[in-house]
Amino acid sequence: MCTHDNMDLDQKTVLCDKKANGKVQPWKEKKLANVGYFELLEILQFKKAERVSTCGEILEFDITHEGRMKLAKAWFCKSPLCPMCNWRKTMKRSIQTTKIIEEVIRQKPKARWLFLTLSVKNVFDGKELDKSLKAMAEGFRRLMLYKKVKQNMIGFMRSTEVTVNKKDGSYNQHMHVLLCVESKYFKGAENYLSQEDWTSLWQKAMKLDYVPVVHIEAVKNKKRNKKKEVTAIQAAVQETAKYSVKDADYLTGNLENDLEVVKDLEEGLYRKRMIAYGGLLKEVHKRFNLDDVEDGDLVRVDDEDSDVEEKAYSIVAFWNWEQQNYYLN
Ligand SMILES: [Zn+2]
Repeated sequence: MCTHDNMDLDQKTVLCDKKANGKVQPWKEKKLANVGYFELLEILQFKKAERVSTCGEILEFDITHEGRMKLAKAWFCKSPLCPMCNWRKTMKRSIQTTKIIEEVIRQKPKARWLFLTLSVKNVFDGKELDKSLKAMAEGFRRLMLYKKVKQNMIGFMRSTEVTVNKKDGSYNQHMHVLLCVESKYFKGAENYLSQEDWTSLWQKAMKLDYVPVVHIEAVKNKKRNKKKEVTAIQAAVQETAKYSVKDADYLTGNLENDLEVVKDLEEGLYRKRMIAYGGLLKEVHKRFNLDDVEDGDLVRVDDEDSDVEEKAYSIVAFWNWEQQNYYLN
Protein backbone atom coordinates (compact mmCIF):
# COMPACT_ATOMS: atom_id res chain seq x y z
CA MET A 1 0.00 0.00 0.00
CA CYS A 2 1.17 3.51 -0.65
CA THR A 3 -0.27 6.96 -0.39
CA HIS A 4 0.48 10.17 -2.17
CA ASP A 5 2.25 11.59 0.81
CA ASN A 6 4.68 8.73 1.12
CA MET A 7 7.92 10.33 2.20
CA ASP A 8 11.31 8.82 2.61
CA LEU A 9 14.13 10.05 4.84
CA ASP A 10 14.98 12.93 2.53
CA GLN A 11 11.37 14.07 2.54
CA LYS A 12 10.98 13.25 -1.11
CA THR A 13 7.69 11.87 -2.32
CA VAL A 14 7.71 8.34 -3.63
CA LEU A 15 5.59 7.65 -6.70
CA CYS A 16 2.34 5.86 -6.00
CA ASP A 17 0.12 5.03 -8.96
CA LYS A 18 -3.03 3.47 -7.64
CA LYS A 19 -5.83 2.42 -9.96
CA ALA A 20 -9.52 2.97 -9.25
CA ASN A 21 -9.74 -0.67 -8.12
CA GLY A 22 -7.13 0.02 -5.46
CA LYS A 23 -4.36 -1.86 -7.23
CA VAL A 24 -0.96 -0.22 -6.97
CA GLN A 25 0.87 -0.26 -10.30
CA PRO A 26 4.21 -2.11 -10.04
CA TRP A 27 6.37 0.67 -11.53
CA LYS A 28 9.22 0.20 -9.08
CA GLU A 29 9.34 -3.61 -9.47
CA LYS A 30 9.24 -3.39 -13.26
CA LYS A 31 11.94 -0.71 -13.38
CA LEU A 32 14.14 -2.76 -11.05
CA ALA A 33 13.78 -5.76 -13.37
CA ASN A 34 14.50 -3.49 -16.34
CA VAL A 35 17.69 -2.35 -14.60
CA GLY A 36 18.69 -5.99 -14.05
CA TYR A 37 18.12 -6.66 -17.74
CA PHE A 38 20.08 -3.53 -18.71
CA GLU A 39 23.06 -4.65 -16.58
CA LEU A 40 23.18 -7.98 -18.40
CA LEU A 41 23.02 -6.25 -21.80
CA GLU A 42 25.81 -3.93 -20.76
CA ILE A 43 28.11 -6.81 -19.79
CA LEU A 44 27.25 -8.50 -23.08
CA GLN A 45 28.13 -5.20 -24.82
CA PHE A 46 24.83 -4.84 -26.63
CA LYS A 47 24.58 -1.45 -28.30
CA LYS A 48 21.00 -1.03 -27.15
CA ALA A 49 21.93 -1.31 -23.44
CA GLU A 50 21.94 2.47 -23.03
CA ARG A 51 18.53 2.75 -24.64
CA VAL A 52 17.10 0.02 -22.42
CA SER A 53 18.45 1.81 -19.33
CA THR A 54 16.35 4.89 -20.10
CA CYS A 55 13.11 2.91 -20.50
CA GLY A 56 10.44 4.47 -18.29
CA GLU A 57 13.00 6.64 -16.50
CA ILE A 58 10.68 9.64 -16.54
CA LEU A 59 6.94 9.25 -16.12
CA GLU A 60 4.52 12.11 -16.57
CA PHE A 61 1.03 11.61 -15.19
CA ASP A 62 -2.13 13.61 -15.59
CA ILE A 63 -4.12 13.96 -12.40
CA THR A 64 -7.85 14.34 -12.92
CA HIS A 65 -10.21 16.42 -10.82
CA GLU A 66 -11.32 13.18 -9.23
CA GLY A 67 -7.72 12.55 -8.20
CA ARG A 68 -7.14 9.71 -10.65
CA MET A 69 -3.70 9.26 -12.19
CA LYS A 70 -3.19 8.58 -15.87
CA LEU A 71 0.16 8.07 -17.50
CA ALA A 72 0.45 10.87 -20.07
CA LYS A 73 4.04 10.76 -21.27
CA ALA A 74 6.87 8.28 -21.05
CA TRP A 75 9.42 6.65 -23.28
CA PHE A 76 9.64 2.87 -23.51
CA CYS A 77 12.47 0.94 -25.18
CA LYS A 78 10.33 -1.87 -26.70
CA SER A 79 13.17 -4.35 -26.45
CA PRO A 80 11.58 -7.83 -26.67
CA LEU A 81 12.90 -8.95 -23.28
CA CYS A 82 12.34 -5.70 -21.37
CA PRO A 83 10.28 -6.45 -18.22
CA MET A 84 8.88 -2.91 -18.16
CA CYS A 85 7.75 -3.04 -21.80
CA ASN A 86 6.42 -6.59 -21.50
CA TRP A 87 4.27 -5.57 -18.56
CA ARG A 88 2.77 -2.72 -20.63
CA LYS A 89 2.40 -4.97 -23.71
CA THR A 90 0.59 -7.66 -21.75
CA MET A 91 -1.94 -5.18 -20.38
CA LYS A 92 -2.47 -3.80 -23.85
CA ARG A 93 -2.83 -7.22 -25.49
CA SER A 94 -5.25 -8.36 -22.89
CA ILE A 95 -7.52 -5.32 -23.24
CA GLN A 96 -7.32 -5.31 -27.06
CA THR A 97 -8.09 -9.00 -27.28
CA THR A 98 -11.01 -8.77 -24.89
CA LYS A 99 -12.51 -6.00 -27.06
CA ILE A 100 -11.98 -8.03 -30.21
CA ILE A 101 -13.48 -11.16 -28.74
CA GLU A 102 -16.56 -9.34 -27.45
CA GLU A 103 -17.15 -8.04 -30.97
CA VAL A 104 -16.58 -11.45 -32.58
CA ILE A 105 -19.06 -13.00 -30.12
CA ARG A 106 -21.54 -10.26 -31.00
CA GLN A 107 -21.18 -11.02 -34.71
CA LYS A 108 -20.95 -14.78 -34.34
CA PRO A 109 -22.90 -15.70 -31.21
CA LYS A 110 -23.00 -19.39 -32.11
CA ALA A 111 -19.28 -19.71 -32.71
CA ARG A 112 -17.25 -22.05 -30.55
CA TRP A 113 -13.82 -21.39 -29.08
CA LEU A 114 -10.86 -23.74 -28.85
CA PHE A 115 -7.59 -23.41 -27.05
CA LEU A 116 -4.71 -25.02 -28.92
CA THR A 117 -1.14 -25.44 -27.76
CA LEU A 118 1.50 -26.30 -30.34
CA SER A 119 5.04 -27.19 -29.44
CA VAL A 120 8.20 -28.63 -30.93
CA LYS A 121 11.33 -30.15 -29.43
CA ASN A 122 13.40 -27.97 -27.13
CA VAL A 123 16.47 -26.23 -28.52
CA PHE A 124 19.77 -25.39 -26.87
CA ASP A 125 21.04 -22.06 -28.19
CA GLY A 126 20.04 -18.77 -29.77
CA LYS A 127 20.72 -19.83 -33.31
CA GLU A 128 18.50 -22.91 -32.98
CA LEU A 129 15.81 -20.85 -31.29
CA ASP A 130 15.85 -18.31 -34.11
CA LYS A 131 15.47 -21.08 -36.68
CA SER A 132 12.79 -22.88 -34.72
CA LEU A 133 10.66 -19.76 -34.19
CA LYS A 134 10.85 -18.92 -37.90
CA ALA A 135 9.85 -22.49 -38.78
CA MET A 136 6.94 -22.38 -36.33
CA ALA A 137 5.54 -19.16 -37.80
CA GLU A 138 5.74 -20.73 -41.25
CA GLY A 139 4.32 -24.05 -40.00
CA PHE A 140 1.41 -22.27 -38.34
CA ARG A 141 0.61 -20.50 -41.59
CA ARG A 142 0.53 -23.85 -43.38
CA LEU A 143 -1.59 -25.44 -40.67
CA MET A 144 -4.26 -22.77 -41.01
CA LEU A 145 -4.44 -23.43 -44.75
CA TYR A 146 -5.25 -27.13 -44.50
CA LYS A 147 -8.75 -27.77 -45.77
CA LYS A 148 -9.94 -29.56 -42.63
CA VAL A 149 -8.73 -26.67 -40.47
CA LYS A 150 -9.82 -23.88 -42.79
CA GLN A 151 -13.34 -25.13 -43.50
CA ASN A 152 -14.74 -24.14 -40.09
CA MET A 153 -12.25 -21.48 -39.09
CA ILE A 154 -13.61 -18.04 -38.24
CA GLY A 155 -10.45 -16.56 -36.82
CA PHE A 156 -7.61 -16.93 -34.35
CA MET A 157 -5.16 -15.23 -32.09
CA ARG A 158 -1.78 -16.81 -31.59
CA SER A 159 1.04 -15.96 -29.25
CA THR A 160 4.45 -17.52 -28.98
CA GLU A 161 6.05 -18.21 -25.65
CA VAL A 162 9.60 -19.26 -24.85
CA THR A 163 10.42 -20.81 -21.49
CA VAL A 164 13.73 -21.91 -20.07
CA ASN A 165 14.17 -25.43 -18.75
CA LYS A 166 16.21 -24.96 -15.59
CA LYS A 167 17.38 -28.58 -15.51
CA ASP A 168 19.23 -28.69 -18.79
CA GLY A 169 19.24 -25.04 -19.87
CA SER A 170 17.21 -25.79 -22.98
CA TYR A 171 14.50 -23.57 -24.44
CA ASN A 172 10.94 -24.63 -25.02
CA GLN A 173 9.11 -22.66 -27.64
CA HIS A 174 5.40 -23.15 -28.03
CA MET A 175 2.36 -21.37 -29.37
CA HIS A 176 -0.87 -20.66 -27.55
CA VAL A 177 -3.70 -20.29 -30.02
CA LEU A 178 -7.23 -19.18 -29.34
CA LEU A 179 -9.34 -20.46 -32.24
CA CYS A 180 -12.83 -19.38 -33.13
CA VAL A 181 -14.71 -21.99 -35.19
CA GLU A 182 -18.19 -22.51 -36.62
CA SER A 183 -20.38 -24.58 -34.30
CA LYS A 184 -20.56 -27.36 -36.89
CA TYR A 185 -16.92 -28.08 -36.09
CA PHE A 186 -18.30 -30.41 -33.43
CA LYS A 187 -20.71 -32.13 -35.83
CA GLY A 188 -19.54 -35.25 -37.60
CA ALA A 189 -16.18 -36.77 -38.47
CA GLU A 190 -15.88 -34.54 -41.54
CA ASN A 191 -15.78 -31.44 -39.33
CA TYR A 192 -14.34 -32.49 -36.02
CA LEU A 193 -10.59 -32.67 -35.38
CA SER A 194 -9.39 -34.78 -32.46
CA GLN A 195 -6.19 -34.18 -30.54
CA GLU A 196 -4.58 -36.91 -32.70
CA ASP A 197 -5.74 -35.10 -35.85
CA TRP A 198 -4.29 -31.77 -34.67
CA THR A 199 -1.07 -33.53 -33.72
CA SER A 200 -0.59 -35.15 -37.10
CA LEU A 201 -1.54 -31.94 -38.95
CA TRP A 202 1.02 -29.97 -36.92
CA GLN A 203 3.63 -32.66 -37.54
CA LYS A 204 2.91 -32.43 -41.26
CA ALA A 205 2.90 -28.61 -41.32
CA MET A 206 6.23 -28.53 -39.48
CA LYS A 207 7.68 -31.43 -41.49
CA LEU A 208 8.79 -33.13 -38.29
CA ASP A 209 10.23 -36.64 -38.09
CA TYR A 210 8.84 -37.05 -34.56
CA VAL A 211 5.41 -36.69 -32.96
CA PRO A 212 5.15 -33.20 -31.41
CA VAL A 213 3.26 -32.36 -28.23
CA VAL A 214 -0.08 -30.80 -29.15
CA HIS A 215 -2.99 -30.07 -26.89
CA ILE A 216 -6.48 -28.98 -27.86
CA GLU A 217 -9.46 -28.24 -25.66
CA ALA A 218 -12.84 -26.67 -26.12
CA VAL A 219 -13.31 -23.43 -24.21
CA LYS A 220 -16.55 -23.67 -22.31
CA ASN A 221 -18.24 -20.35 -22.14
CA LYS A 222 -19.69 -20.52 -18.69
CA LYS A 223 -18.76 -18.77 -15.50
CA ARG A 224 -15.84 -20.46 -13.85
CA ASN A 225 -15.70 -18.35 -10.78
CA LYS A 226 -18.97 -16.70 -9.88
CA LYS A 227 -17.37 -14.14 -7.61
CA LYS A 228 -15.02 -12.77 -10.19
CA GLU A 229 -17.25 -13.67 -13.11
CA VAL A 230 -14.30 -14.65 -15.17
CA THR A 231 -15.54 -16.51 -18.17
CA ALA A 232 -13.56 -19.36 -19.60
CA ILE A 233 -12.96 -17.38 -22.76
CA GLN A 234 -11.43 -14.54 -20.80
CA ALA A 235 -9.21 -17.02 -18.99
CA ALA A 236 -8.04 -18.34 -22.36
CA VAL A 237 -7.47 -14.75 -23.52
CA GLN A 238 -5.30 -14.09 -20.48
CA GLU A 239 -3.33 -17.24 -21.18
CA THR A 240 -2.85 -16.20 -24.80
CA ALA A 241 -2.04 -12.59 -23.96
CA LYS A 242 0.62 -13.21 -21.34
CA TYR A 243 4.33 -12.49 -21.60
CA SER A 244 6.31 -14.12 -24.42
CA VAL A 245 9.17 -14.56 -21.98
CA LYS A 246 9.22 -14.39 -18.20
CA ASP A 247 11.90 -12.20 -16.66
CA ALA A 248 12.25 -14.78 -13.87
CA ASP A 249 13.82 -16.98 -16.56
CA TYR A 250 16.78 -14.64 -17.13
CA LEU A 251 16.97 -12.74 -13.85
CA THR A 252 17.75 -15.69 -11.60
CA GLY A 253 20.73 -14.11 -9.88
CA ASN A 254 23.13 -16.64 -11.38
CA LEU A 255 25.14 -14.22 -13.50
CA GLU A 256 26.81 -16.69 -15.81
CA ASN A 257 23.54 -18.43 -16.50
CA ASP A 258 21.58 -15.18 -16.92
CA LEU A 259 24.09 -13.82 -19.42
CA GLU A 260 23.84 -16.93 -21.54
CA VAL A 261 20.03 -16.96 -21.46
CA VAL A 262 19.77 -13.27 -22.39
CA LYS A 263 22.22 -13.73 -25.25
CA ASP A 264 20.28 -16.73 -26.60
CA LEU A 265 16.86 -15.10 -26.19
CA GLU A 266 18.04 -11.88 -27.85
CA GLU A 267 19.22 -13.87 -30.84
CA GLY A 268 16.17 -16.13 -30.90
CA LEU A 269 13.53 -13.41 -30.53
CA TYR A 270 15.15 -10.93 -32.88
CA ARG A 271 12.52 -9.56 -35.27
CA LYS A 272 9.95 -12.20 -34.39
CA ARG A 273 6.26 -11.48 -34.34
CA MET A 274 5.24 -13.02 -31.04
CA ILE A 275 1.54 -12.26 -31.39
CA ALA A 276 -0.75 -12.35 -34.41
CA TYR A 277 -4.42 -12.34 -35.28
CA GLY A 278 -6.13 -14.04 -38.21
CA GLY A 279 -9.52 -14.16 -39.95
CA LEU A 280 -12.38 -12.28 -38.30
CA LEU A 281 -10.23 -11.41 -35.26
CA LYS A 282 -7.75 -9.71 -37.56
CA GLU A 283 -10.53 -7.86 -39.38
CA VAL A 284 -12.03 -6.60 -36.13
CA HIS A 285 -8.58 -5.56 -34.90
CA LYS A 286 -8.20 -3.52 -38.07
CA ARG A 287 -11.70 -2.06 -38.00
CA PHE A 288 -11.36 -0.98 -34.36
CA ASN A 289 -8.16 0.71 -35.43
CA LEU A 290 -6.21 -0.94 -32.65
CA ASP A 291 -2.53 -0.29 -32.98
CA ASP A 292 0.21 -2.87 -33.03
CA VAL A 293 0.96 -4.34 -29.61
CA GLU A 294 4.60 -4.97 -30.41
CA ASP A 295 5.34 -1.67 -32.06
CA GLY A 296 2.56 0.57 -30.87
CA ASP A 297 2.05 3.05 -28.07
CA LEU A 298 2.83 1.70 -24.59
CA VAL A 299 1.78 4.85 -22.73
CA ARG A 300 -1.95 4.43 -22.96
CA VAL A 301 -2.60 0.75 -22.45
CA ASP A 302 -5.51 0.48 -20.08
CA ASP A 303 -9.16 0.89 -20.66
CA GLU A 304 -9.83 3.27 -17.83
CA ASP A 305 -8.32 6.13 -19.75
CA SER A 306 -11.58 7.44 -21.13
CA ASP A 307 -11.24 11.08 -22.02
CA VAL A 308 -14.29 12.15 -20.05
CA GLU A 309 -12.27 13.11 -17.02
CA GLU A 310 -10.42 16.34 -17.46
CA LYS A 311 -6.94 16.73 -16.16
CA ALA A 312 -6.44 19.11 -13.27
CA TYR A 313 -2.65 19.11 -13.18
CA SER A 314 0.37 16.97 -14.01
CA ILE A 315 3.08 15.35 -11.98
CA VAL A 316 6.41 13.95 -13.10
CA ALA A 317 8.20 11.01 -11.50
CA PHE A 318 11.90 10.30 -12.02
CA TRP A 319 13.73 7.04 -11.48
CA ASN A 320 16.40 7.57 -8.86
CA TRP A 321 19.28 5.22 -9.61
CA GLU A 322 20.77 5.52 -6.14
CA GLN A 323 17.59 5.09 -4.15
CA GLN A 324 16.19 2.59 -6.66
CA ASN A 325 12.75 4.08 -6.65
CA TYR A 326 10.60 6.67 -8.41
CA TYR A 327 10.35 10.11 -6.83
CA LEU A 328 8.09 12.98 -7.71
CA ASN A 329 9.74 16.12 -8.90
ZN1 LIG B 1 11.55 -1.26 -22.08
